[in-house]
Amino acid sequence: MRQHTIFIKKHLMNHKVIIGLEVHVELKTKSKMFCGCSAEYFGEKPNSHTCPVCLGLPGALPVPNQQAIEWCVQIGQALNCTIPPFSKFDRKNYFYPDLPKGYQISQYDEPFCLGGHIEINGKKFGITRVHMEEDTGKLLHEGKSSLIDFNRSGVPLVEIVTEPDFDNASDVKAYLQKLQQIIRYLRVSDADMEKGQMRLEPNISVSLDVNAKDLPNYKVEVKNINSFGFVEKAINFEIERQLEILKSGKTPAQETRGWDEAKNATVSQRIKEEANDYRYFPEPDIPPIRWTKEQIAELKSRIPELPDAKLARFQKEFALSQYDAEILTREIELADYFEEAVEIPKSKATPKQIANLIINKKINTDEVLPARLVEEIISSGKTEELNVDELRSIIKKILTENPQIAKDFAKGKTSVVQFAIGQVMYIIKKKIDINIVRQLILEELK
Ligand SMILES: [Zn+2]
Repeated sequence: MRQHTIFIKKHLMNHKVIIGLEVHVELKTKSKMFCGCSAEYFGEKPNSHTCPVCLGLPGALPVPNQQAIEWCVQIGQALNCTIPPFSKFDRKNYFYPDLPKGYQISQYDEPFCLGGHIEINGKKFGITRVHMEEDTGKLLHEGKSSLIDFNRSGVPLVEIVTEPDFDNASDVKAYLQKLQQIIRYLRVSDADMEKGQMRLEPNISVSLDVNAKDLPNYKVEVKNINSFGFVEKAINFEIERQLEILKSGKTPAQETRGWDEAKNATVSQRIKEEANDYRYFPEPDIPPIRWTKEQIAELKSRIPELPDAKLARFQKEFALSQYDAEILTREIELADYFEEAVEIPKSKATPKQIANLIINKKINTDEVLPARLVEEIISSGKTEELNVDELRSIIKKILTENPQIAKDFAKGKTSVVQFAIGQVMYIIKKKIDINIVRQLILEELK
């Protein structure tokens, strides 16, 4: 075992891992990015949410969704980005059956947000850019045929791109969890990965030169992963796979791979396109966007309290431990629920009691209203008091009926306390804290 550990350490020091991330998040606007079709397409009948714009019919003109653009900017602001006063949409040209226009409206060189970061446990991970684009349709493969559902076509999609600042899978996972938490706090997306609302694409390369300043001359992108666990596995798999190739004196191919859950491996999909393969050019049907300083400031002022700030405030304002505050602030809904319960007027329950009940009893916050929760705490407090009085009288009765207990105890025979506890438990037939019973018995015996 010990030898094994030493081997891993040596092994790690031999190379340098470089990881960057692209994350796509679908916004939960009512309508799509460039038309009035409903963006709530999940589970709907195929092609029931479509119109000439999102079907890419000739002559149809896009009208940008203001809500989506504002949310994209707010995501950038929440990630400490700068919002340039000028921005525009571009066409990213490529052919694929799920893209009826032959191009995707995206942003190339002048995105809405630039240069931010997320900080986790004192480590800063750089965010290159946050930009706005539209989702594509969805291919469904049935036997020998492929069917296309355009309900998803044109749904607002935000892409968040990081710097190549990661060197291990667990930091990547921590970053992704934080990002998902921030997105949910902003209430701009549920970021539900099972529904494809958050899609993860790590790019990984390895250098055998630990001190290399330049990035390796290749990178492997793993596309559309839908769970944090799979991202971790895909990254660790890629590091090993690429190391093997590098050690044999070759360079891994610059390519796009996918995560194959069944094989527990990444598999090659296609050789990666360069940006110039997409023939980007400015979208001629949408005028550029110009922000005033006031508009940018106004959007920022509407950003709600974010996870780190809430965590700190919960600890300070409600005197909660870091552990409790972390659990309560993990999901915005739970944090709101807790605060609602704390603010119930004349509530005699302390924040600590409320936190304990939520955390330890795993209250179903969808079913139990905060007011009901507080009531429960107060009434359970009353029964406890009642029990203590009840307990005292039971103990007194037992001691009167068994005078030997007090005599033996006075002689230093402490084992009789255990006998008395047994008698009490026999009479009350309830699960209660034995320590309380013992304490009460000792009080009576003194
Ligand atoms: Zn449409």
